[in-house]
Amino acid sequence: MRVSAIIAAAGRGTRFGGELKQLRPVAGRAILDRSVSAFLAHPTIAEVIVALPRALVDDPPAYLRPDNIAAGNSARGRLHLVAGGERRQDSVANAFRAAAPDSDVIVIHDAARPFVSADLIARTIAAAAESGAAIAALQARDTVKQAELVVRQARDERESTPLILSPSKDERTWIVTSTLPRESIFLAQTPQAFRRDVLAAALAVAARADVPVTDEAALAERAGHPVRLVDGEASNVKITTRDDLVMAEAIAQSTDRRTIRTGRAGTGYDLHRLAAGRPLVIGGVAIPSDRGAVGHSDADVACHAIVDALLGAGGQGDIGRHFPDSDPQWKGASSLDLLARAAAMVRDGGYDVGNVDVTVVLESPKIRDHVEAMRRAIAGAIGIDAARVSVKGKTNEGVDAIGRGEAIAAHAVALIYAIRN
Ligand code: MG
Repeated sequence: MRVSAIIAAAGRGTRFGGELKQLRPVAGRAILDRSVSAFLAHPTIAEVIVALPRALVDDPPAYLRPDNIAAGNSARGRLHLVAGGERRQDSVANAFRAAAPDSDVIVIHDAARPFVSADLIARTIAAAAESGAAIAALQARDTVKQAELVVRQARDERESTPLILSPSKDERTWIVTSTLPRESIFLAQTPQAFRRDVLAAALAVAARADVPVTDEAALAERAGHPVRLVDGEASNVKITTRDDLVMAEAIAQSTDRRTIRTGRAGTGYDLHRLAAGRPLVIGGVAIPSDRGAVGHSDADVACHAIVDALLGAGGQGDIGRHFPDSDPQWKGASSLDLLARAAAMVRDGGYDVGNVDVTVVLESPKIRDHVEAMRRAIAGAIGIDAARVSVKGKTNEGVDAIGRGEAIAAHAVALIYAIRN
């Protein structure tokens, strides 16, 4: 089953004082980044299409820039940006047109719900695949009243006279007309997932309808498709007004802390002999040198050590097991590609990469001038911000084989953390 995700993020924040609320950070990370990442990191989702205001498509934030995602990274080529339309259904229709034509299920999510869990995404997709349409929803917990708006006419002070209309004193007030059985009341959330044909029919209804709708399920209902409910999550809140940010901060702190508690660390080490006439590639960067590392691939010790640190943190074996020297497909391979594959394996295992730190031990040349380029290359391959990658250079003070310039080594540490709670 092929699943495409659409993130509806084209809202202009009319209830948020005109500020683009989706860009607003919550506990240090943008709401939009959190929402998009939840889907990009999800193991069953093939691609993520984000519907944005035109200005953001032209100048997207760093976490949505395709050029920040390196070749081989599992997110590369899976993230697409499209301009939204006037109404929500127009934005979703634009995104739907950009979705892969062979998608079986399309899952739609509000960017303003940054705390959706991987489990809720999976359950919504599974229900839609079975029934055609499914949405996350919470059963009402409070007693639900239906009410109507009535205009109470102000009474003249003289009791004897009948009602005298006094428009300036009229007050509009809600009066309860009935108490609804709350067992049958559900509050719709997103994700909302649809089989491709069902969403196509729903959007065709939208194209004809003049009334803007607030969710895609309403369109499917109008098109006559039964919409199945799956249990939503109380933490899957929608950030609509500035007041909601207080609760959002609390949820973020709590989930982020939970995440750190389930962090795992791994270490890696690698050493290659140096020989004349070989290129010297460290952290994906070719460095001018009369000698380079000898090896089957590009012999990049920094990348190899980080690959082992990542796989070690994930409990997923080591570089020799996944990319053996004996396998010709890895001959001359770019170690950045191996690194991207290792990061994808870690993500497939349910973890995201927190940070990596690597020390390169080399007598000469000095790597100092290349450290920034290495950090960017490593970060791009892993799919994290360069701020979360550290590269340090060290000599061996002339001692041993490394000190004599016969070898280069690297030590790495990686921290990964659970993305599923
Ligand atoms: Mg190696």
